[in-house]
Amino acid sequence: MKILVPVKRVIDYNVKPRVKADGTGVDLANVKMSMNPFDEIAVEEAIRLKEKGAATEIVAVSVGPAKAAETLRTALAMGADRAILIETDEDVEPLAVAKILKAIADEEAPGLVILGKQSISDDSNQTGQMLAALLGRPQGTGANTVEIDGDHVIVKREVDGGLQTVRLAMPAIVTTDLRLNEPRYASLPNIMKAKQKPLATKTAADYGVDLAPRLKTLKVAEPPVRQAGEKVADVAALVEKVKALGIA
Ligand code: AMP
Repeated sequence: MKILVPVKRVIDYNVKPRVKADGTGVDLANVKMSMNPFDEIAVEEAIRLKEKGAATEIVAVSVGPAKAAETLRTALAMGADRAILIETDEDVEPLAVAKILKAIADEEAPGLVILGKQSISDDSNQTGQMLAALLGRPQGTGANTVEIDGDHVIVKREVDGGLQTVRLAMPAIVTTDLRLNEPRYASLPNIMKAKQKPLATKTAADYGVDLAPRLKTLKVAEPPVRQAGEKVADVAALVEKVKALGIA
Protein backbone atom coordinates (compact mmCIF):
# COMPACT_ATOMS: atom_id res chain seq x y z
CA MET A 1 0.00 0.00 0.00
CA LYS A 2 1.15 3.46 -0.90
CA ILE A 3 0.68 6.43 1.49
CA LEU A 4 0.49 10.00 0.25
CA VAL A 5 1.54 12.67 2.76
CA PRO A 6 0.93 16.34 1.89
CA VAL A 7 3.33 18.64 3.74
CA LYS A 8 3.13 22.41 3.84
CA ARG A 9 5.95 24.90 4.36
CA VAL A 10 4.83 27.38 7.03
CA ILE A 11 6.34 29.90 9.46
CA ASP A 12 8.21 27.96 12.14
CA TYR A 13 5.98 27.47 15.16
CA ASN A 14 8.52 29.17 17.45
CA VAL A 15 8.38 32.41 15.48
CA LYS A 16 5.93 35.14 16.44
CA PRO A 17 4.29 36.22 13.17
CA ARG A 18 4.34 39.93 12.34
CA VAL A 19 1.64 41.61 10.33
CA LYS A 20 2.79 43.70 7.35
CA ALA A 21 2.55 47.43 7.97
CA ASP A 22 -0.09 47.85 5.24
CA GLY A 23 -2.31 45.13 6.76
CA THR A 24 -2.27 42.98 3.60
CA GLY A 25 -0.85 39.84 5.21
CA VAL A 26 1.84 38.30 7.37
CA ASP A 27 5.42 39.42 6.83
CA LEU A 28 7.44 36.42 5.59
CA ALA A 29 10.68 38.31 4.83
CA ASN A 30 13.67 36.69 6.58
CA VAL A 31 11.40 34.51 8.71
CA LYS A 32 12.36 30.93 9.61
CA MET A 33 10.10 28.48 7.76
CA SER A 34 9.55 24.80 8.63
CA MET A 35 7.27 21.87 7.98
CA ASN A 36 3.77 22.38 9.41
CA PRO A 37 3.89 20.53 12.79
CA PHE A 38 0.75 18.45 12.06
CA ASP A 39 2.40 17.31 8.81
CA GLU A 40 5.50 16.11 10.68
CA ILE A 41 3.11 13.93 12.67
CA ALA A 42 1.57 12.71 9.39
CA VAL A 43 5.00 11.79 7.97
CA GLU A 44 5.89 10.02 11.23
CA GLU A 45 2.65 8.02 11.19
CA ALA A 46 3.22 6.94 7.58
CA ILE A 47 6.76 5.81 8.46
CA ARG A 48 5.48 3.84 11.46
CA LEU A 49 2.90 2.10 9.24
CA LYS A 50 5.67 1.24 6.78
CA GLU A 51 7.90 -0.04 9.58
CA LYS A 52 5.02 -2.27 10.75
CA GLY A 53 4.74 -3.69 7.21
CA ALA A 54 1.34 -2.06 6.57
CA ALA A 55 2.69 0.27 3.85
CA THR A 56 5.27 -0.14 1.09
CA GLU A 57 5.89 3.38 -0.18
CA ILE A 58 5.53 6.92 1.20
CA VAL A 59 5.15 9.81 -1.24
CA ALA A 60 5.41 13.34 0.20
CA VAL A 61 3.75 16.19 -1.72
CA SER A 62 4.00 19.93 -1.28
CA VAL A 63 2.31 22.79 -3.12
CA GLY A 64 4.36 25.93 -2.72
CA PRO A 65 7.42 27.95 -3.75
CA ALA A 66 10.73 26.40 -4.90
CA LYS A 67 11.89 26.51 -1.26
CA ALA A 68 9.16 24.02 -0.32
CA ALA A 69 11.64 21.48 -1.78
CA GLU A 70 13.50 21.89 1.56
CA THR A 71 10.35 20.82 3.41
CA LEU A 72 10.09 17.79 1.12
CA ARG A 73 13.77 16.95 1.76
CA THR A 74 12.96 16.96 5.49
CA ALA A 75 10.14 14.47 4.85
CA LEU A 76 12.56 12.34 2.79
CA ALA A 77 15.18 12.53 5.55
CA MET A 78 12.59 11.38 8.10
CA GLY A 79 11.80 8.34 5.91
CA ALA A 80 9.54 9.18 2.95
CA ASP A 81 10.60 7.42 -0.27
CA ARG A 82 10.02 10.08 -2.89
CA ALA A 83 8.53 13.54 -3.24
CA ILE A 84 6.53 15.71 -5.60
CA LEU A 85 6.76 19.51 -5.53
CA ILE A 86 3.99 21.44 -7.25
CA GLU A 87 5.78 24.71 -7.64
CA THR A 88 3.92 28.00 -7.40
CA ASP A 89 4.53 31.44 -5.95
CA GLU A 90 0.78 32.04 -5.55
CA ASP A 91 -0.94 31.91 -2.16
CA VAL A 92 -2.78 28.62 -2.51
CA GLU A 93 -6.13 28.07 -0.84
CA PRO A 94 -7.26 24.71 0.57
CA LEU A 95 -9.63 24.05 -2.36
CA ALA A 96 -6.81 24.43 -4.91
CA VAL A 97 -4.52 22.19 -2.84
CA ALA A 98 -7.30 19.60 -2.50
CA LYS A 99 -7.87 19.60 -6.28
CA ILE A 100 -4.16 19.02 -6.93
CA LEU A 101 -4.06 16.27 -4.30
CA LYS A 102 -7.10 14.64 -5.93
CA ALA A 103 -5.32 14.58 -9.29
CA ILE A 104 -2.20 13.09 -7.67
CA ALA A 105 -4.29 10.52 -5.79
CA ASP A 106 -5.99 9.53 -9.06
CA GLU A 107 -2.54 8.98 -10.58
CA GLU A 108 -0.79 7.33 -7.62
CA ALA A 109 -3.76 5.37 -6.15
CA PRO A 110 -2.63 5.55 -2.48
CA GLY A 111 -4.44 3.40 0.10
CA LEU A 112 -4.18 6.28 2.57
CA VAL A 113 -3.66 10.00 2.35
CA ILE A 114 -2.47 11.30 5.72
CA LEU A 115 -2.64 15.09 6.07
CA GLY A 116 -2.24 17.42 8.99
CA LYS A 117 -5.45 18.47 10.74
CA GLN A 118 -4.66 22.09 9.92
CA SER A 119 -1.84 24.29 8.77
CA ILE A 120 -0.67 26.68 11.46
CA SER A 121 -0.24 29.41 8.83
CA ASP A 122 -3.91 29.89 7.99
CA ASP A 123 -5.65 27.52 10.46
CA SER A 124 -8.11 26.50 7.74
CA ASN A 125 -8.65 22.85 8.76
CA GLN A 126 -10.24 22.25 5.34
CA THR A 127 -7.90 20.51 2.91
CA GLY A 128 -8.37 16.92 4.16
CA GLN A 129 -12.14 17.26 4.25
CA MET A 130 -12.25 18.82 0.77
CA LEU A 131 -10.00 16.09 -0.61
CA ALA A 132 -12.25 13.37 0.86
CA ALA A 133 -15.27 15.02 -0.76
CA LEU A 134 -13.55 15.40 -4.15
CA LEU A 135 -12.40 11.76 -4.09
CA GLY A 136 -15.70 10.51 -2.69
CA ARG A 137 -13.74 8.59 -0.02
CA PRO A 138 -14.25 8.27 3.76
CA GLN A 139 -12.38 10.51 6.18
CA GLY A 140 -11.13 10.23 9.77
CA THR A 141 -10.11 13.69 10.91
CA GLY A 142 -8.14 14.67 14.02
CA ALA A 143 -6.65 11.20 14.48
CA ASN A 144 -5.35 10.16 17.89
CA THR A 145 -4.56 6.57 16.78
CA VAL A 146 -4.50 4.90 13.38
CA GLU A 147 -4.64 1.14 12.94
CA ILE A 148 -4.84 -0.87 9.73
CA ASP A 149 -7.37 -3.71 9.80
CA GLY A 150 -7.20 -5.58 6.47
CA ASP A 151 -8.70 -3.31 3.83
CA HIS A 152 -10.02 -0.92 6.50
CA VAL A 153 -8.39 1.67 8.73
CA ILE A 154 -9.57 2.23 12.29
CA VAL A 155 -9.16 5.83 13.42
CA LYS A 156 -9.71 7.09 16.96
CA ARG A 157 -10.68 10.73 16.52
CA GLU A 158 -10.22 13.47 19.08
CA VAL A 159 -13.63 15.03 19.61
CA ASP A 160 -15.00 17.30 22.34
CA GLY A 161 -15.00 15.35 25.59
CA GLY A 162 -13.35 12.15 24.35
CA LEU A 163 -12.46 9.87 21.48
CA GLN A 164 -14.69 8.67 18.66
CA THR A 165 -13.70 5.45 16.86
CA VAL A 166 -14.47 5.14 13.13
CA ARG A 167 -13.73 2.26 10.74
CA LEU A 168 -13.10 3.42 7.18
CA ALA A 169 -12.90 1.40 3.98
CA MET A 170 -9.64 2.22 2.23
CA PRO A 171 -8.66 4.18 0.22
CA ALA A 172 -9.32 6.71 2.95
CA ILE A 173 -8.27 10.15 4.14
CA VAL A 174 -6.85 10.66 7.63
CA THR A 175 -5.84 13.94 9.27
CA THR A 176 -3.55 14.02 12.29
CA ASP A 177 -4.07 15.53 15.72
CA LEU A 178 -1.22 16.49 18.05
CA ARG A 179 -1.31 13.42 20.28
CA LEU A 180 -1.06 10.83 17.46
CA ASN A 181 2.70 10.43 17.85
CA GLU A 182 5.95 12.25 18.49
CA PRO A 183 7.79 12.80 15.20
CA ARG A 184 11.39 11.63 14.95
CA TYR A 185 14.31 13.90 14.13
CA ALA A 186 16.10 13.16 10.88
CA SER A 187 19.60 11.82 11.56
CA LEU A 188 22.57 13.33 9.72
CA PRO A 189 23.17 10.17 7.61
CA ASN A 190 19.49 10.19 6.64
CA ILE A 191 19.67 13.90 5.73
CA MET A 192 22.57 13.03 3.41
CA LYS A 193 20.72 10.02 1.95
CA ALA A 194 17.61 12.15 1.36
CA LYS A 195 19.54 14.24 -1.16
CA GLN A 196 19.63 11.20 -3.48
CA LYS A 197 15.92 10.38 -3.17
CA PRO A 198 13.69 11.30 -6.15
CA LEU A 199 11.95 14.68 -6.07
CA ALA A 200 9.78 15.51 -9.09
CA THR A 201 8.84 19.13 -9.82
CA LYS A 202 5.48 19.85 -11.46
CA THR A 203 3.06 22.73 -11.91
CA ALA A 204 -0.65 23.04 -11.16
CA ALA A 205 -1.23 23.20 -14.94
CA ASP A 206 0.23 19.67 -15.24
CA TYR A 207 -2.78 18.56 -13.19
CA GLY A 208 -5.23 20.89 -14.95
CA VAL A 209 -5.86 22.86 -11.75
CA ASP A 210 -6.53 26.59 -11.67
CA LEU A 211 -4.92 28.15 -8.57
CA ALA A 212 -6.78 31.47 -8.83
CA PRO A 213 -7.98 32.42 -5.33
CA ARG A 214 -11.69 32.20 -4.51
CA LEU A 215 -11.30 34.30 -1.36
CA LYS A 216 -10.24 37.91 -0.99
CA THR A 217 -8.37 38.91 2.17
CA LEU A 218 -9.74 42.28 3.21
CA LYS A 219 -7.43 42.97 6.12
CA VAL A 220 -4.95 41.26 8.44
CA ALA A 221 -4.48 42.77 11.90
CA GLU A 222 -2.71 41.93 15.16
CA PRO A 223 -5.04 40.64 17.89
CA PRO A 224 -6.10 43.40 20.32
CA VAL A 225 -3.70 43.86 23.24
CA ARG A 226 -5.12 42.17 26.34
CA GLN A 227 -6.01 44.37 29.29
CA ALA A 228 -3.96 43.78 32.44
CA GLY A 229 -5.67 41.77 35.20
CA GLU A 230 -6.50 43.11 38.65
CA LYS A 231 -5.96 41.43 42.02
CA VAL A 232 -8.76 41.71 44.59
CA ALA A 233 -8.36 41.38 48.36
CA ASP A 234 -10.98 38.70 49.03
CA VAL A 235 -14.05 36.88 47.71
CA ALA A 236 -16.41 39.66 48.83
CA ALA A 237 -14.45 42.18 46.77
CA LEU A 238 -14.52 39.81 43.81
CA VAL A 239 -18.32 39.45 44.08
CA GLU A 240 -18.66 43.25 44.18
CA LYS A 241 -16.51 43.57 41.04
CA VAL A 242 -18.51 40.95 39.17
CA LYS A 243 -21.80 42.63 40.21
CA ALA A 244 -20.47 45.97 39.02
CA LEU A 245 -19.78 44.40 35.61
CA GLY A 246 -23.41 43.36 35.44
CA ILE A 247 -22.63 39.70 34.67
CA ALA A 248 -23.83 38.16 37.96
P1 AMP B 1 -5.39 23.50 6.01
O1 AMP B 1 -6.67 22.98 5.43
O2 AMP B 1 -4.77 24.61 5.20
O3 AMP B 1 -5.51 23.85 7.48
O4 AMP B 1 -4.32 22.31 5.90
C1 AMP B 1 -4.57 20.99 6.34
C2 AMP B 1 -3.50 20.06 5.81
O5 AMP B 1 -3.56 20.03 4.37
C3 AMP B 1 -2.06 20.44 6.12
O6 AMP B 1 -1.69 20.00 7.42
C4 AMP B 1 -1.30 19.69 5.02
O7 AMP B 1 -1.20 18.31 5.31
C5 AMP B 1 -2.24 19.85 3.83
N1 AMP B 1 -1.90 21.07 3.06
C6 AMP B 1 -2.47 22.29 3.11
N2 AMP B 1 -1.87 23.16 2.26
C7 AMP B 1 -0.86 22.44 1.66
C8 AMP B 1 0.14 22.75 0.68
N3 AMP B 1 0.25 23.98 0.16
N4 AMP B 1 0.98 21.75 0.31
C9 AMP B 1 0.90 20.53 0.85
N5 AMP B 1 -0.03 20.17 1.75
C10 AMP B 1 -0.89 21.12 2.17
